[in-house]
Amino acid sequence: MKTIQPLFARLGLSLLMLLVMQFALPLRPVHAAPAAPELTAGYVEEISLGKATLLSIVDSPTSFEARLITAKEYREKYAGTTFPGVVKTWLLITQDRKILIDTGWGTKHGHKATTLNVLARRGIAPEEITDILMTHLDIDHVSGLLGPDGKAAYLRAIIHVSEPEYTAWMQDATNRSRDVCANTKASMAPYTVKTFAFDAEVLPGIHGRDASGHTPGHTVYDIAMGGNRIAILGDIMHIAEVQLRHPQVCTVYDMTPDKAAQSRAATFKRLAKEGLRAGGMHFPMIGYVTGQADGGFVMEAQPAQ
Ligand SMILES: [Zn+2]
Repeated sequence: MKTIQPLFARLGLSLLMLLVMQFALPLRPVHAAPAAPELTAGYVEEISLGKATLLSIVDSPTSFEARLITAKEYREKYAGTTFPGVVKTWLLITQDRKILIDTGWGTKHGHKATTLNVLARRGIAPEEITDILMTHLDIDHVSGLLGPDGKAAYLRAIIHVSEPEYTAWMQDATNRSRDVCANTKASMAPYTVKTFAFDAEVLPGIHGRDASGHTPGHTVYDIAMGGNRIAILGDIMHIAEVQLRHPQVCTVYDMTPDKAAQSRAATFKRLAKEGLRAGGMHFPMIGYVTGQADGGFVMEAQPAQ
């Protein structure tokens, strides 16, 4: 007992010390909240379209500040707010094709070629990609066309892009900076490019719809496969929290604001009318859009299935 008593005493003291420390120190170390998984680079959602599979891939997390909003009223209303966002790519795997929709950042501006890495993780070699559908040719969508070595990342792929989009960028008829334009041309250069007119069936089951305004030939892709439908909206909006409720609100990224706002409202209206599921490139949610009495829209998440 002589030996046990001091042990209890020591334990008692230790417990007391622990209790004191619990109150003296914060119970948990203070860290920033971890990012939601759907905002993390490499996060993948898988959607079944009959025998085809569609992957939504987060190429990188990003954020959009309220100061990017062009309308003063809304810029001031949300002043100081930073909205979390993503840069996404999509991969459609059908029985005879592997189709990438946009290519993300690649290794531009210190990015880590996430889309290529996601493909590798899934055992898909870049040369298995047969087609690349471009929603438009901005820097965060085309840069992934080149691999870390600066050469074509997808050796066998054919690029599909709307005719007005391709022409505008090749003729330097955009308002983007000289560097951004040069990057687009260099990213496209190693590839065979096929252009299409709006509403054409670009590939079996995939139609390119006119969503111009953000850029001259910005395209929404309607995919219909195995009795399932989904629309890939590209950059129809950047700040979903504001632009769904108020489709007239543009950001500085929209090249022709009036046209972009018109395309945004028309696209949301069509999605609501057709009950068409949708996802985009800069917001993580995949779901259904419904119209509101005030002319705005809301989007309800539909878990991937
Ligand atoms: Zn973009």
